[in-house]
Amino acid sequence: MQLPEYPESYWRRTADLPAFPKLTRDLETEFAVVGGGLTGLTTAYLLAKEGRRVALLTADRLLGGTTGYTTAKITAQHDLIYDELIAHFGEDKARLYYEANAGALAFMRGLVAEHGIACDFVDEDAVVYATREEGLHKLEKEYAAYQRLGIPGERYDTLTLPFGATAALSMKRQARFHPTPYAAFLAGEIVRLGGEIFEETTMDKFHDGETAKVTTKDGNTVTCDAVAACSHFPFSTTAFISRVCMPRARTSSRSSRLTTIRAGCTLRRTSRSARCARSLTAERSCS
Ligand SMILES: Cc1cc2nc3c(=O)[nH]c(=O)nc-3n(C[C@H](O)[C@H](O)[C@H](O)COP(=O)(O)OP(=O)(O)OC[C@H]3O[C@@H](n4cnc5c(N)ncnc54)[C@H](O)[C@@H]3O)c2cc1C
Repeated sequence: MQLPEYPESYWRRTADLPAFPKLTRDLETEFAVVGGGLTGLTTAYLLAKEGRRVALLTADRLLGGTTGYTTAKITAQHDLIYDELIAHFGEDKARLYYEANAGALAFMRGLVAEHGIACDFVDEDAVVYATREEGLHKLEKEYAAYQRLGIPGERYDTLTLPFGATAALSMKRQARFHPTPYAAFLAGEIVRLGGEIFEETTMDKFHDGETAKVTTKDGNTVTCDAVAACSHFPFSTTAFISRVCMPRARTSSRSSRLTTIRAGCTLRRTSRSARCARSLTAERSCS
């Protein structure tokens, strides 16, 4: 079998997204949102919905970054993390982390329901499973952490998977979806609400001052009140960076001119003895 030289996005290949022009002039706006993944689109949508003038600028096509290549599960279950969060940061902060992620899921579920977005959104339990004794022990500790934090979950001794799984832990009522129609809805709303979207536009430098300015690699300048860097990694090393969760994006940009915003569901931890599955059915169909 001939493998492609570069990975291809299943999500981009199987649904349509509108195309947007490259920025070829200087621009003035209220908010510049850098990055056309789920974080940038959500941020720009929320700003536009509040009646703010917003321009979203992204280096490639929309969903050309990690969002286009994810497993597209929407879950607060990030492998095994809650036992570790409690150990490092205490119960209150671990609970806050869970609630932030659960809030992001509720936000997406609500948006899909409110607007009838046809994005194959399905409620499903998320499952992390162990294949070895060592993983079993970790699962037990994680389950205890769920109970302490009040996270709805269930512990299984057997799983009907076509490979050896010694135990599993589910987190109830999580979700999966097709990111492309969801992103197409957000992009459509941004434009409908008066926002602008520019693709193939790489931002290079951030300049703070009386007004914020970002310049593109091609030398065009975007002048604005604030910049939200939703570029996964900061694009300007000289800028003041802070990190916030996605649902609080609109308030954060008031405190600093450049705000790096990352999706709630990004923190992942892999382990040789425990793996997470998108869902039991998806796991079967993938294998
Ligand atoms: C293999 C894999 C699987 C994952 N699975 C899941 C999952 O199932 N569920 C989940 O919630 N999360 C998953 N994640 C995490 C995922 O990355 C985030 O949840 C989410 O998709 C990140 O979105 P984002 O918008 O922050 O970043 P991205 O989607 O990466 O978007 C950032 C955008 O910024 C643009 N950009 C970067 N630099 C510049 C610049 N200088 N100028 C202009 N634009 C720029 C990029 O081109 C890109 O389009 C997965 C990650 C990986 C790697």
